[in-house]
Amino acid sequence: MATVVIAGGGISGVAAALAVARNGHRATVLERNPEFGELGAGIQLGPNAFRALDHLGVADRVRSGAVFIDEINLMDGMTGDRITSLPLGAEFSERYRYPYAVVHRVDLHAALLDACGQSPLIDLRTDCAVAGYTVDGATVSVRLPSGEVVTGDALIGADGIRSAVRRQLVGDGEPRVSGHTIYRSVVPIEQVAHELRWNSVTLWAGPKMHVVHYPIAGGRFFNLAATVDDGATQIVTGKPAARDLVMDTFAALAPETRRFLDQGQDWRTWVLCDRDPVPRWTDRQVVLIGDAAHPMLQYAAQGACMALEDVVCLDGLLSQGETDFVELFAAFAAARTGRTAWIQGVSRAIGEEVYHPSASAADERTRWLSSLSAAQVHELVDPLYLGPVTADIA
Ligand SMILES: Cc1cc2nc3c(=O)[nH]c(=O)nc-3n(C[C@H](O)[C@H](O)[C@H](O)COP(=O)(O)OP(=O)(O)OC[C@H]3O[C@@H](n4cnc5c(N)ncnc54)[C@H](O)[C@@H]3O)c2cc1C
Repeated sequence: MATVVIAGGGISGVAAALAVARNGHRATVLERNPEFGELGAGIQLGPNAFRALDHLGVADRVRSGAVFIDEINLMDGMTGDRITSLPLGAEFSERYRYPYAVVHRVDLHAALLDACGQSPLIDLRTDCAVAGYTVDGATVSVRLPSGEVVTGDALIGADGIRSAVRRQLVGDGEPRVSGHTIYRSVVPIEQVAHELRWNSVTLWAGPKMHVVHYPIAGGRFFNLAATVDDGATQIVTGKPAARDLVMDTFAALAPETRRFLDQGQDWRTWVLCDRDPVPRWTDRQVVLIGDAAHPMLQYAAQGACMALEDVVCLDGLLSQGETDFVELFAAFAAARTGRTAWIQGVSRAIGEEVYHPSASAADERTRWLSSLSAAQVHELVDPLYLGPVTADIA
């Protein structure tokens, strides 16, 4: 039985712990915060995420709090017209074998964390910020601020976009500040006008800005996110924003779009960051997963989905009985770097070319997307939802 130390207890870290324990190994999850938890906002999960959650045995729990929306709509935020939509009914579930749904992040994380809590092989520890690691022959150790040294046979860096493990392993500095600011609000559904409680993910595209909304937490809340390409240069995380500031920032959008924004309250602000893909995620028996490995802009709604795919890939390798973590992590990285680099690029391109274009570029986008048949829309999204997740030891 091996011991795997996991830095970070977000979605990737706790999901990875489940995969480790499912294969009969011990996992020690080191979370820097005083409590495990997630941001109180929504997240979209594609069929690839549900396939992974099913694999990890927590899909039923996540489904119970999820909202199974009818469709994903892309609207012109300047005219209020529909550009295209992707119905998420029986045909979608049949094609991708799993549904598309929206969930509260807290519910997703709690499902994974509670499953970890039920495993005697998983040790969940808080107030444990990892600063770096030392590989010594067959073991790897991390030193905590308390001076305690935690040792294992392998280390998984699941410590997010500003990963300390990545800092040592890749050394590519601070994340890239995208210049895009996002305002987020989660509103109790009874405070949202009846006619605006759409059971869909709907995205309103405007010049250098877009608005997204969908219901979450079994329909008890309405999740709103409004993003503007304002050239922001400083990192902001969760700073409160006045309602008037949000309404003024999106003043150019049509009244059909702004009536949704008008429902928002207690807005909070983030400046979005990502990184360029890197080919190297491993250093002997140390590996990066999730946002530590491949942080992306949220425009393809695939960051957490990719983190869950990572874990399924690791699980598949562990289930082959391999305990040489140098080999195992090399096979993992070989299987995952290409796909996730592609999605990092797609995420940026969707922002530029689909959500934020202006003038003639916006007209061209609308002409192209509105001309697509349902089959062509499926072909566009197939690689996101049907991508390969398994790997073999060479
Ligand atoms: C606005 C927005 C919307 C999004 N929407 C979607 C969506 O709809 N669908 C989707 O699939 N994805 C979405 N994403 C992406 C998704 O949120 C991330 O990809 C996902 O949360 C990554 O999980 P993670 O566990 O890898 O990293 P994180 O969530 O960052 O977790 C890292 C954990 O490690 C801890 N940590 C950090 N440093 C240390 C350290 N040194 N030592 C110990 N612990 C440490 C942190 O406290 C945290 O708990 C969105 C992202 C944003 C910003």
